[in-house]
Amino acid sequence: MNFEFNELQNEVRAGVKSLCSRFDLNYWSKCEKEGRYPEEFVTAMSEAGWLGILIPEEYGGAGLGMTEAAIVLEEINRSGGMGAACHAQMYTMGSVLRHGSKEQKEKYLPLIANGSLRLQAFGITEPDAGSDTTKIKTFAKKTDNGYVINGQKIFISRFQHSDMILLLARTTPLDQVKKKIDGMSLFLIDLREVGSAIEAKPIETMMNHETNVLFINDLEVPEDSLVGEEGKGFYYLLDGINAERILVASECIGDGKWFIEQAVRYSSERVVFDRPIGKNQGIQFPIAKAYMAVQAAETMNFKAASKFDKGLACGEEANMAKYLASEASWEAGDVTMTTFGGYGVAVEYHIERKWRETRLFRTAPISNNLVLSYIAEHSLRLPRSY
Ligand SMILES: Cc1cc2nc3c(=O)[nH]c(=O)nc-3n(C[C@H](O)[C@H](O)[C@H](O)COP(=O)(O)OP(=O)(O)OC[C@H]3O[C@@H](n4cnc5c(N)ncnc54)[C@H](O)[C@@H]3O)c2cc1C
Repeated sequence: MNFEFNELQNEVRAGVKSLCSRFDLNYWSKCEKEGRYPEEFVTAMSEAGWLGILIPEEYGGAGLGMTEAAIVLEEINRSGGMGAACHAQMYTMGSVLRHGSKEQKEKYLPLIANGSLRLQAFGITEPDAGSDTTKIKTFAKKTDNGYVINGQKIFISRFQHSDMILLLARTTPLDQVKKKIDGMSLFLIDLREVGSAIEAKPIETMMNHETNVLFINDLEVPEDSLVGEEGKGFYYLLDGINAERILVASECIGDGKWFIEQAVRYSSERVVFDRPIGKNQGIQFPIAKAYMAVQAAETMNFKAASKFDKGLACGEEANMAKYLASEASWEAGDVTMTTFGGYGVAVEYHIERKWRETRLFRTAPISNNLVLSYIAEHSLRLPRSY
């Protein structure tokens, strides 16, 4: 067991940290105020090659592992930024890499690696199918040349800043499959060619997160947009879920560390009743508790990433890391709010922005209740609750 980062991992951390220092807290606040996607930041990350870190070298990526990818996202959020603006560019390609055809891989992966093509929209959730994905109604009907897709998706993030989308649709109706996770397929769709067949309606959210309702009407896609085998889409999704859990946990850990740093600094400086508030145990104990929670989550997350990189089963660790990290960053955010007193809600201190941003991770990409169900069922062998 080795808890030290190696030289390469330290270099990754230093490189991302240096890039992030060019995008200060005011940059992120300004983007939010203007309701603007952080285009300059995402371009800089793409050009530096950080978003292609998981793509093998033969396709032009850095060919590094999940541990290094986790460090990249942690550093973005630790700098006060928001990795969710670009995290999907790192992992959505995983389905193509593992299950795509030789042609799909050769055509798209090098462009995703060099950042000239964005595949950072992932379309799964529907108005009547969130946690229960098997209930999706979007349907892809086979034709002579390919498929015609109709349906509706919701909360599809970065859609307006992506060249392609990976879309999940049913290809066999739910009532005609043996297992409800059968009969769904993944499609890799070039959004530059869809015209008006997909209409996007932005959803206003409590943070600067570009997310949309999609109305899909008679969208014709060629046969070769299917990823892997028809009907196996849900299995392909499951393959990529651990990567997503680990990377989202990393963002939470970055948020948690950012919050703790703010709380420590402010509580050391702010004098009330003639002494720094950090001298009071009522202030320092909650910060110490939140710090331990973040550290514990980080340990679990690097355990998950390490197992992932060794090709070992890591579903339990990845789920636990996502849960622990999102709860820890929320606790750290709340403690920091308390520490800052009234100034916590003042926009110029940035605490309230990060607090709103980190709350998302308790809900998406999977809600923590569903993680608890996973652990109860798969780790503890309790009866399935739904
Ligand atoms: C900002 C944002 C961005 C997103 N981006 C994307 C994206 O890019 N692509 C995409 O496909 N999706 C995206 N999502 C969707 C996200 O994955 C879903 O919101 C999430 O999976 C939960 O689904 P739901 O919102 O429909 O909640 P529901 O499934 O309706 O659940 C509501 C609540 O009930 C709880 N619940 C449900 N069943 C049980 C049970 N059996 N036991 C205990 N509790 C239960 C849930 O945990 C949840 O808290 C995004 C969501 C948000 C908010």
